[in-house]
Amino acid sequence: MMSADQMLDFDRNHLWHPYTSMTNPLPVFPVRSASGVTIELQDGRQLIDGMSSWWSVIHGYRHPALDAAAKKQLDCMSHVMFGGLTHEPAVHLGQLLVEMSPPGLDKVFLCDSGSVSVEVALKMALQYWHVSGKPEKHRLLTIRGGYHGDTFHAMSVCDPVTGMHTLFERSLPKQLFAPRPTCRFGEEWNPEDLQDMEELLARNHEEIAAVIVEPIVQGAGGMWFYHPEYLKGLRALCDRYNVLLIFDEIATGFGRTGTLFAAEHAGISPDIMCLGKAITGGYMTLAATLASEDVGITTSQGSPGVFMHGPTFMGNPLACAVACASLQILQSGAWKEQLKNIEQQLQDELAPAREMDTVSDVRVLGGIGVIETREPANMAKMQQFFVENGVWIRPFGRLLYIMPPYIIQPEELRQLTSVMVKAAAITP
Ligand SMILES: *Cc1c(COP(=O)(O)O)cnc(C)c1O
Repeated sequence: MMSADQMLDFDRNHLWHPYTSMTNPLPVFPVRSASGVTIELQDGRQLIDGMSSWWSVIHGYRHPALDAAAKKQLDCMSHVMFGGLTHEPAVHLGQLLVEMSPPGLDKVFLCDSGSVSVEVALKMALQYWHVSGKPEKHRLLTIRGGYHGDTFHAMSVCDPVTGMHTLFERSLPKQLFAPRPTCRFGEEWNPEDLQDMEELLARNHEEIAAVIVEPIVQGAGGMWFYHPEYLKGLRALCDRYNVLLIFDEIATGFGRTGTLFAAEHAGISPDIMCLGKAITGGYMTLAATLASEDVGITTSQGSPGVFMHGPTFMGNPLACAVACASLQILQSGAWKEQLKNIEQQLQDELAPAREMDTVSDVRVLGGIGVIETREPANMAKMQQFFVENGVWIRPFGRLLYIMPPYIIQPEELRQLTSVMVKAAAITP
């Protein structure tokens, strides 16, 4: 077995981590194993996980039902191509997704990762208008402060300032951006919040294929929670101007905001919905793009008469089998009570940070707790501080935030919130 030092040495010199430098990487911590809400480091230190490995590990690590589903599927087949073949794990997953998702989303495209599911959604929207005899409807409209992934078309709808627009300017399509909604979740609604969106649609609808947004919670683009009325109004505007509505529920899907899907806060359905992250309970990479009957049928008409996408690992049986097990845990309904309790505890225990000079805002929704600081955190220093205090939290910029596994116990959550509040006081 490799020693931790050998591992770190090779890692530092050869492996890219997400958004890291090959010449001056920030320290990484070697992990031996993980179980429940605990990540165990190679040196034996135990960390309570506040990140759910980026929203995905909602039932905790090494969940018995998910482990069993993976093992059972391994003994049957890990993979088989989806072109010309089908299998029970994919069909069962399709059934569960159609059953659980907002009404009207009955067509399912299984793909590899969140970014790919966004690419698939955008291609569906473009192909929809192409075969409808309106190829001029090719642009996308979104709101600032969004994050939709790292591939090219997904990047083009990420926030133009914090995203990668300048770097890749020459290769990125130019999209349209409305301001971020200002009305917060749980506060008063002001219809003026939709005015810029309405003007952009009125002026450009003949060129616009779709509006894409993260419903209710803008995740990686700023952890911002906005009013459900915005989405209701947006649905009406998209209908009026003949534009498709895409919800990117990759972060919000599967219970995180307190409803199974964030769209439910507004009581509406999009035409296309992207799912990912928690879909396999964080076991494997898998994502899905769901579409309405109209989108499914229309994209199959005209030329070429088929929807033009088909990844090698589409419908991977191993990932689908684990996803089915994860969705069945959700169907038992325990998550509702868990999320309600987590939300209440986050409200109570993060509240003291509101009074701090170093803090500009505290917000909580479902299983998401955010402390926004006035100054950006020093990442290396902060990570060290969190590990020394027995928790795994990874801040970015001025955002200290957690979205723990749903199975977290009150005393474990208390440790996360108390370290978080302590960190906010000493930021940066
Ligand atoms: C994480 C995320 C993506 C990208 O998913 P990947 O699996 O990282 O490609 C897209 N949209 C949202 C809202 C996300 O949170």
